[in-house]
Amino acid sequence: MKLTVVGCSGSFPSADSACSSYLVEADGFRLLIDMGNGALGELQRHCGLYDLDAVLLSHLHADHCIDMCGYFVARYYRHDGGPLSAIPVYGPTGTERRLGFAYGDVPDEKCMSEVFDFRTLRPGTFRLGPFGVTVERVSHPVEAYAFRIGHASRVLAYSGDTGPCEALFRLAEGADLFLCEASFTYGKESIPGLHLNGREAGQVATRAAADRLVLTHIPPWTNPEVNLRDARSTFAGPVELATAGVTYEV
Ligand SMILES: [Zn+2]
Ligand SMILES: [Zn+2]
Repeated sequence: MKLTVVGCSGSFPSADSACSSYLVEADGFRLLIDMGNGALGELQRHCGLYDLDAVLLSHLHADHCIDMCGYFVARYYRHDGGPLSAIPVYGPTGTERRLGFAYGDVPDEKCMSEVFDFRTLRPGTFRLGPFGVTVERVSHPVEAYAFRIGHASRVLAYSGDTGPCEALFRLAEGADLFLCEASFTYGKESIPGLHLNGREAGQVATRAAADRLVLTHIPPWTNPEVNLRDARSTFAGPVELATAGVTYEV
């Protein structure tokens, strides 16, 4: 499968990147994981507006979902050819209500569901196009999920936003590529049940025996080189910083 980093900035966009959004492609199927601030614009560098087959939202913090409001406009008010049929949108409990509230001026209560087929995430495994998707609840102040995406015996694991938790180890076990958040700086920020620092991301990758670690969701106020160095101190495999526009073969 192919992973493209559409946006990787944590908490709010940086001068170089939109917020969290990752395009995963295999067998002609395009799955978008998260659509944070600025991601809808960046997405159009990598595929057509209407080429997505499904969307997975890890949680409902704005930096992971807010550009779904713009995407609603693009699908519902499409100028050429009228509204599009609904694509599956998997998210936490209340995703439809939350996006409708964020948009604030929907013509009627049900119109978002005309272009988005909302489905509520639960821990477990399901089939999505050519992918096997395993969902785990992780440690964050709101209902938040991490994903394990399998295709042709290759595995991509994505942490979403989370503090250290057992579910994340299970999810990342043996992953070929582990896309893991490292929002905090070791020794500087530490709030339980919120985010990981670079050392912790490396520790999860080591215990999970992941092949390769890509650090993401680093906020603009954080020095990414420090988090990269910290992750390298706890994980012996290849580690790099996610960069907007970069594609990986998983
Ligand atoms: Zn976030
Ligand atoms: Zn969050």
